[in-house]
Amino acid sequence: MHIDVVTIFPEVFGPVLSSSMLGIAQDQGAVTFAVHDLRQWTSDRHRTTDDYPYGGGPGMVMKPEPFYRAVAELKASDPTSATIVLVCPQGRRFDQDLAEDLAGRERLILLCGRYEGVDERVRDLADIEISIGDYVLTGGELPAMVIIDAVTRLQPGVLASHEAAEEESFSWGILEYPQYTRPASFQGKDVPEVLLSGDHARIAAWRRVEAVRRTAERRPDLIPSADLTPEERAYAEKLITDTFKEGDFR
Ligand code: SAM
Repeated sequence: MHIDVVTIFPEVFGPVLSSSMLGIAQDQGAVTFAVHDLRQWTSDRHRTTDDYPYGGGPGMVMKPEPFYRAVAELKASDPTSATIVLVCPQGRRFDQDLAEDLAGRERLILLCGRYEGVDERVRDLADIEISIGDYVLTGGELPAMVIIDAVTRLQPGVLASHEAAEEESFSWGILEYPQYTRPASFQGKDVPEVLLSGDHARIAAWRRVEAVRRTAERRPDLIPSADLTPEERAYAEKLITDTFKEGDFR
């Protein structure tokens, strides 16, 4: 997979894209990244990417022309079919399902806004607008990095074990089970006996129950659409009811 990013702050991507899993993924050839300075597609000597909003109001708005030129040139430079993503607080909320969908695309072009956002006509360039949550950040660079990270770790072979991604939170539509490492006893807190038993069937069953319990307690909103057996669903619904009674929602 190839990911292009268009931004007025290309320099902020370097350390993130070259470190840890993202760096390894590139070394393995699972993904390639190209970060482009939007200013190269400006046409004035000040390399202007923003202007005052029509109708007045605070702040500046990003001009449409540089984004249009950027997308046209990037598309022309590579015949691989590209999905154009505008990161934007008004977009579809990013989640694991969307990460898995994007991870299957051949190429992404991520457009990052700044200031008061982009001229409305820039939206027409996008196949999808994505928000990483219901809050407003200063620019699209952090959202783009979030999307890049979530999508790259789903590329085949990037994680040490494919199961690692399959068992993580949201991959079953529920949260992940509790994880422990050594020591077996720490400050009076013991690792559950079942995890030391070596009995893989018991461990798998325990993890499944704990994942359902944790989801019911922390994210009851996930339970209706989770892939659960009838017994698991009944267990989760009872936990939710009991938790409501105790007023113990976290
Ligand atoms: N005035 C815009 C609005 O109310 O929708 C917000 C503009 S925001 C300050 C500047 C840029 O940051 C946006 O164009 C977008 O690229 C990015 N951004 C901010 N919050 C975001 C979020 N939650 N998800 C995705 N992108 C976001």
